[in-house]
Amino acid sequence: MTSKNRMLKQYFGYDHFRDGQEELIDAILAGRDVLGILPTGGGKSICYQLPALLLPGITLVVSPLISLMQDQVMALKEIGVAAAYVNSSLTPSQITRVYANLSLGRYQIVYVAPERLGSEDFLQLCRRLPISLLAVDEAHCISQWGQDFRPSYLHIADFATSLPQRPVIGAFTATATEAVREDILRLLRLNRPHTVLTGFDRPNLTFSVEKGKGRAERLLALMREREGKSGIIYCNSRACVERVCDALIRAGFRATRYHAGLDEEERSRNQQEFLYDHSRIMVATNAFGMGIDKSNVSFVIHYNLPLSLEAYYQEAGRAGRDGAEAECILFFSESDIRTARMLLENGNENEGLSEEERRNRLQINLSRFGHMVDYCRTTECLRGAILSYFGQPHPPRCDKCGNCQSSFRKVDRTVEAQMVLSCVARIKGYLGYSVGKQLLSGVLVAGRDHRIADLGLDTLSTYGVMKGWKGTAVRELIEQLRMQGYLLQSEFGTYELSEEALPLLRGERSFHMLCREEGEEKTGKSKRAERRRADRRGDVSLFDALRALRAEIAASEHLPQYIIFSN
Ligand code: ADP
Repeated sequence: MTSKNRMLKQYFGYDHFRDGQEELIDAILAGRDVLGILPTGGGKSICYQLPALLLPGITLVVSPLISLMQDQVMALKEIGVAAAYVNSSLTPSQITRVYANLSLGRYQIVYVAPERLGSEDFLQLCRRLPISLLAVDEAHCISQWGQDFRPSYLHIADFATSLPQRPVIGAFTATATEAVREDILRLLRLNRPHTVLTGFDRPNLTFSVEKGKGRAERLLALMREREGKSGIIYCNSRACVERVCDALIRAGFRATRYHAGLDEEERSRNQQEFLYDHSRIMVATNAFGMGIDKSNVSFVIHYNLPLSLEAYYQEAGRAGRDGAEAECILFFSESDIRTARMLLENGNENEGLSEEERRNRLQINLSRFGHMVDYCRTTECLRGAILSYFGQPHPPRCDKCGNCQSSFRKVDRTVEAQMVLSCVARIKGYLGYSVGKQLLSGVLVAGRDHRIADLGLDTLSTYGVMKGWKGTAVRELIEQLRMQGYLLQSEFGTYELSEEALPLLRGERSFHMLCREEGEEKTGKSKRAERRRADRRGDVSLFDALRALRAEIAASEHLPQYIIFSN
């Protein structure tokens, strides 16, 4: 057994490396810079923690979040590694002590906040130390294109070159988009890095989209079915976090909350409550979670629509880090789209930008958001939709997600599609410009929208051709036509015919939609619930006994339960 494999077993208790880990570790040990792009939960930490144990000098880990540092340092100390962190949560005398130990060579691995690298004291200290590896966690924070831009990350490259000997730099992230990757390479000034991009699939996660009204009741029902399990519920506003958390507590669930409106002390207390499983449910805004390594999260529910698939996959990916089966459920109704667009348009990340930069950024954000909405509407495999977005090939079905588990009927909608397309053409011909979905569906069903008569659209031959159809169904049809490439949507949300539309209008091509079987919404869900109940029946008494034992050990060691062992 190589020393690397022995270390993996001895310190971390694992028999095998996961995809990409060994390759990255080997490159670091051979003195090369690396860029590791692994999905959330893919095991990035070991890629720098294990070299830290094997390399002669000190490993510095730059990490953006205090909670992550505390958690990782605690876990490292528990397995006998000399580790420490320096961040703003320490008192000046605690910092002095860590600096003293650091200069005496007492640590193998030290976590620092990025701001620290800009401090002269710290630089002077580091100049006297043998620093062999500088690991940059959450490296996408260096990019303005990413969602978590942190200006202090821009100092990292200068810090590294100010040391007498530039250490090996390892950058790690779960964000794979091209623009972010290029920023990391350029701004960290990585030297011919060995780059590893592993598959993005997380086979133990099951994805589903829950459509329709009554989400408060749906949530309570889901929580009852998952009694005793640990999970995160993401909401898009502080007010929503408060409302959902209160409702859960009133219904008897042990829930806690996290958002930027709470003071530091309460945030940290609530986070600990959740990490230690005193509260099993965390209701939070997206302020919660970056760097949270709670391995036994068995569900992540998005109560509102996230703004991009990157954000969704990152947040949903906090489920099932221990490799156990876990669920990622997203609540969606068409009305969420308007709210989310408003958030994008008024987002405070736009402050300080010029008008042109603001427009460009909004454009990028709206296009990312469009992919998020397509995910909610697709009838194809949900896992496949995510992997396609990240550019990864995949089988057509995963046989596990909400869509693969539902039965869809293929329905011929050629005639209706022709009605929609010809209405689009006629409106454009009549007005000289195209219109949005609301007005278009209004004309088709002869709806009450006053703009129809005001603009004279009730004189068109396609006015009312779909009378009797529900507006929502027509709008769904319009979206399907867009997703299948027959309609193009402008940045203002108006619809035009694509070239593909002509053969369909001429009847040379047919158009099909997948529709969920009648009653399936309900039975699909109850079938899944039944399967879960059957899974739970397994060996309940042994499982409960082991959990009780774990709780006992965790209490005596003052550690979160998941650090003792996973579910
Ligand atoms: P990331 O930072 O990539 O999101 P982590 O480094 O926090 O992921 O690892 C996620 C989980 O996977 C942790 O619980 C970790 O202990 C576990 N893990 C990492 N490497 C392995 C491995 N080789 N075998 C089994 N589990 C692993």
